[in-house]
Amino acid sequence: MNATQKTYLSIVVPVYNEEENVRPLYEKIRKVCDTIGSTYEVLFVDDGSQDKTFDVLSEMRDTSPNLSVIRFQENAGQTAAMAAGFKYARGERIISMDGDLQNDPADIPHLLDKLEEDYDLVCGWRKERQDKFWSRRVPSVVANWIIGKVTGVTIHDNGCSLKAYRAEVIKQVPLYGEMHRFIPAMTTVIGARIAEIVVKHHPRRFGTSKYGLGRIWRVILDILAFKLILSVFASKSNSDNTTSTHQTYRNQLNPKLNVYRITAFSSLTFFIIGSLLINATNIAALSCIGLGISFIIIGLLTGFAISLAQRDTVELSALARFFVFRCDKRPIRYFGPFGAFLFILGLILIFGFLDLCILLMCGGILIFGCGLFGETIVYANAKRVIDYKVEIFLDGKKDVKRTENLY
Ligand code: UDP
Ligand code: MG
Repeated sequence: MNATQKTYLSIVVPVYNEEENVRPLYEKIRKVCDTIGSTYEVLFVDDGSQDKTFDVLSEMRDTSPNLSVIRFQENAGQTAAMAAGFKYARGERIISMDGDLQNDPADIPHLLDKLEEDYDLVCGWRKERQDKFWSRRVPSVVANWIIGKVTGVTIHDNGCSLKAYRAEVIKQVPLYGEMHRFIPAMTTVIGARIAEIVVKHHPRRFGTSKYGLGRIWRVILDILAFKLILSVFASKSNSDNTTSTHQTYRNQLNPKLNVYRITAFSSLTFFIIGSLLINATNIAALSCIGLGISFIIIGLLTGFAISLAQRDTVELSALARFFVFRCDKRPIRYFGPFGAFLFILGLILIFGFLDLCILLMCGGILIFGCGLFGETIVYANAKRVIDYKVEIFLDGKKDVKRTENLY
């Protein structure tokens, strides 16, 4: 591709151990995109594959001028791979899709047409999903329902990777951890207009799925964390339903964050109830005061995270560094279960050891809160995290090869 020529479309495909799929997928994408009649690039992001995926991609690059490859030195996950693809995509429009031939490139023109109806994001809906019923389709329906309730973005299929974006919109969205499942809700934070169309879906023919039932627990924690992020960063959502499959959302970044007020109010309430109760029952009084203190600490930490998030250039503090670098990018996954465990243990002890029970429950809430705080700080810094070493091969044969840090 000529460096001065503007690219209209970038197709971003994260791949992890998909050696048999990448070539036929590229051929299908090429056939479809050649008919669109605009310049395009296909960006495969090899997420540290251990099979021959990268070798096959390298071979393909020799004969395909519009194919670019980003290679992670180790497996960093689908979200990171997508984030890298979005970062280096040069097109005005971006399509993301899975690299296992389950999504169909034939849907690309439909997604783009919909995008041109003045949407920022068009999501694919795998209405006839070709995956196992109990382990995949049922959990997915439940998860989408909950995500819809929590985030206010009621699309049917958050987990479908086949989506179309305006580049300037998706490039602003902070992606981290496994938040690719929350892209639609994330984009509402910057006021995106979202639509949904039905897309085809095929059973996997080659290779194996990279996820099992374990994702259910992770998605639950993600939903909790995301609720906090949305409530902190975005103001009330207005959804304007035109038909069941076409919806517009315009959440705006909340200019006045009132986390300190909420903290002060909730902790004060607990302190007042606690002091009123102090003569009646010491235990109830103590637990209210303990909760009050927990809320103050969580509120101050969260307020700190938000003030960091609002600055454009951030010198990461030692605390932020801890959360961003030491927690495998998902603080809630570390602190959440530990906090929940302490809380439940406290509940169990309520009849025998009241003092210990109070201590454990307050500790549990505090630790869980720290996880949420960490989550906010990682979200806020998602675009700035110095993360994975990547090798980038842009412009086909020209082999512009760089090793860079992602984000
Ligand atoms: N993938 C990835 N990194 C990972 C896991 C998955 O890049 O750590 C890619 C994978 O190669 C595929 C896409 O993400 O292109 C979706 O993964 P998969 O098909 O396993 O998910 P499923 O369709 O089973 O939900
Ligand atoms: Mg798949």
